[in-house]
Amino acid sequence: MKPCIILLGPPGSGKGSQTEKLKSFLGFQTVSTGDLVRSQIKGQTSIGLEIEPFLKEGRLVPDELIVQLFKEWIKDNQDAKGFILDGFPRTLEQAYIFNKDIVGKFNLKVQVIYLEVSVDLLISRMLTRLICNKCKAVYNTTSKPPKHLNQCDECGEALERRQDDNPETIVTRNKEYMSLTAPLVEFFLENLVTINGDQDSEKVFSDIMKGLNNGNLN
Ligand code: ADP
Repeated sequence: MKPCIILLGPPGSGKGSQTEKLKSFLGFQTVSTGDLVRSQIKGQTSIGLEIEPFLKEGRLVPDELIVQLFKEWIKDNQDAKGFILDGFPRTLEQAYIFNKDIVGKFNLKVQVIYLEVSVDLLISRMLTRLICNKCKAVYNTTSKPPKHLNQCDECGEALERRQDDNPETIVTRNKEYMSLTAPLVEFFLENLVTINGDQDSEKVFSDIMKGLNNGNLN
């Protein structure tokens, strides 16, 4: 069976940063469905045009479109020795489809990592977040500033704020999370490890690795 790690947690909980760390440690293929949709929008594809308004408002993209993008991604990456999913599944409907159409077909052993973070911290993290659009590195102006102002340490590209990291959109994203994504904690309970995501990023990572070893995932 192939290991498949799902990172679950609210916007700003550190899923993207932990995905990058896990990827370099485990060598699994990773996907951020947020990046998949942003690249559709950037490319102005027909799906991109359809989903752009949802992202601008901080709402979740319709299930059928995300499922379509995810199925294409996993088919293209089926030779990987394992997977790390950042941001999928994110609704109960997506989770049912994932269990029904994907887990068996790709012979996956699923382990869910739930990053639990206090609300105040989530908001301040998103308001101080900077990202590199080229190599996807994530920075934070207070807790993890780049060495040179607004420049990526890894690849030198100019850093940006995410378009949806603004106070109004953040409120909607958190509401969407609470009503549509939080129920997945219950759904995946049997295969789920809860991690205290308030801690610094290195400690979160070591707790995730411990959680994975207990589930014998690597
Ligand atoms: P965050 O977790 O901080 O909201 P992401 O980069 O994971 O950031 O997602 C950005 C946006 O992409 C979401 O607000 C949503 O509109 C869309 N999106 C990503 N993954 C999904 C998904 N599985 N289902 C529906 N929409 C999604």
